[in-house]
Amino acid sequence: MNDIRNFCIVAHIDHGKSTLADRFLEITKTIPKEKLQEQYLDRMSLERERGITIKMHPVRMSYILNLESYILNLIDTPGHVDFSYEVSRSLNACEGAILLCDATQGIQAQTLANYYLAKEEGLVIIPVVNKIDLPNAQSEKVGRDLAELVGAKEEEVIFISAKLGTDVEKVLEAIIKRIPAPVGSVEKLLRALVFDSLFDRHRGVIAFVRIFDGRIKKGEEIKLLGTGKISTVLEVGIFKPDFIPKESLEAGEIGYVITGFKEVKECRVGDTITKILNFKFQISNFGIEPLKGYREPQPMVFASFYCTDAKDYLKFKEALGKLSLNDAAFTFKSEGFSDLGFGFRCGFLGMLHLEIIKERLEREYDLDLIITAPSVSYKIILQDNREKFIHSPQEFPEAGEIKEIQEPWVRLDIFSPVQYLSPIMELVKKFRGFYKKTEYLAEEVILFYEMPLASFLDNFYNSLKNISAGYASLNYQFLDYRPADLVKMDIKIAGKNVDALSFIVLKKEIQTEGKRLVSQLKKLIPRQLFEITIQAAIGSKIISRETISAMRKNVTAKLYGGDRTRKDKLLKKQKAGKKKLKRIGAVDVPQEAFFAILKNR
Ligand code: GDP
Ligand code: MG
Repeated sequence: MNDIRNFCIVAHIDHGKSTLADRFLEITKTIPKEKLQEQYLDRMSLERERGITIKMHPVRMSYILNLESYILNLIDTPGHVDFSYEVSRSLNACEGAILLCDATQGIQAQTLANYYLAKEEGLVIIPVVNKIDLPNAQSEKVGRDLAELVGAKEEEVIFISAKLGTDVEKVLEAIIKRIPAPVGSVEKLLRALVFDSLFDRHRGVIAFVRIFDGRIKKGEEIKLLGTGKISTVLEVGIFKPDFIPKESLEAGEIGYVITGFKEVKECRVGDTITKILNFKFQISNFGIEPLKGYREPQPMVFASFYCTDAKDYLKFKEALGKLSLNDAAFTFKSEGFSDLGFGFRCGFLGMLHLEIIKERLEREYDLDLIITAPSVSYKIILQDNREKFIHSPQEFPEAGEIKEIQEPWVRLDIFSPVQYLSPIMELVKKFRGFYKKTEYLAEEVILFYEMPLASFLDNFYNSLKNISAGYASLNYQFLDYRPADLVKMDIKIAGKNVDALSFIVLKKEIQTEGKRLVSQLKKLIPRQLFEITIQAAIGSKIISRETISAMRKNVTAKLYGGDRTRKDKLLKKQKAGKKKLKRIGAVDVPQEAFFAILKNR
């Protein structure tokens, strides 16, 4: 075990993480140079295409230093705030991290955010300045800043060019010398941390694991301490970076386990795999402590998904089922039939997670969906003191039954260059945030806030990016539920309540929000051949009202005479636009109307 080093690379986007990983693969001859296309470990996926979670495949490399041979395991962390729990588990599987920083850019928000996560997990940090080959590199200055950030001596900073390979071997040497070998005992009972898992159509759930104690082999009975699920190991192995089967995995090692499970919910990130010694008789866990930090994923954001084409219902349901096999954090529950067709209330970790699922449903399953505005879950204390969690406005009890309503709050750590400090302070206030404290670094600040999740979802992230020219970034984490003065507002179109447009609003914002939404809908809903009223109401009380007047002429009438192609084009355009219209009663409502609830600040 003394010859093993488990580490990850943390960096701001584009600071050279993938390029450095490529150099490692090349130097350690893990992949022959001629086979090495650029950014070898980056998984081809929707995420990569959209440049979001970009997550590399773990890889095991061998390297010889001073005639001693070492095993170096490089694992990666997802790069988006929705997945901070997954990040923390990946970091937990390592003893050290390379903190990589672009010499032309210096420390940036995500450098800091990631550094703090790695520090929290107690990792040894190796500061590395990259891109020293560029003419505008400010290597020395960036080196000093990095040293100060991590509390290292300046001579501990390593200066490299990942592109040219300059001094990359020094980084490998530092990994071996500075990062401790894993501790743990092969003699003890098995404890393995699941830091990632995926569903393979042919082989079922494959867990990516770090073995802390003991040993795991094919054919053994395993139990997951978090979910209590039991299975038989089909295969174990290592990442080279392809899956290479191996006799066993031992304490200190990183590898994969083909678990025999059929869905990732049975084998979630953060859970501990242990062994069953005597399958029939083992009831307790024999005093085996689960590895710290297991948490069931908590969907924080909910939205209803409706399939616009009723005949796709079965396909839709099957697609949701398949996606949830692969994604332990995604939940869905039938809402039955409504104006919008068959619907499911779906739960997500955050907005990006929602978008990923939506896109997969549309692309991989070719579904045409209407999606309601996302909302949070609320905790309702009823008059008889019972607690009830609701995940959609429709579930909101009658006002008379409610004693207190609570909404979720999050902790926000915002990282930003100093110059955006006051606009950020302003912005947070608008989003009902509470200021906690500030920490100053060289040219950056870290601002600590608390904010209702509902405000955060109301486009906070984009607004933050907008006011900071993209430089600020953040981490957020669920804190607790706190009392809030809220009511349910209904929207009536042509006199008919549209459930999917109901939303929860602060009592003091009833008037402004009612007005804003109604006039927003007026703009979004196309004119029809008859007049349409749009009303916002609380219970039976109308708060606000607008009318869309009837369309008078045929739209094509203004295209006089023979220009057939223009006329065709117009009709075609209308038809394409129609695709995303949903008929409610006699009124066509476009997809955007369902998102009108979100403010655009
Ligand atoms: P990542 O987002 O951190 O994975 O960054 P990449 O490895 O994808 O690199 C981002 C860009 O920086 C790419 O165009 C790389 O070719 C370039 N790059 C990475 N390292 C160096 C370096 O040492 N020198 C120069 N000149 N460019 C580099
Ligand atoms: Mg990359």
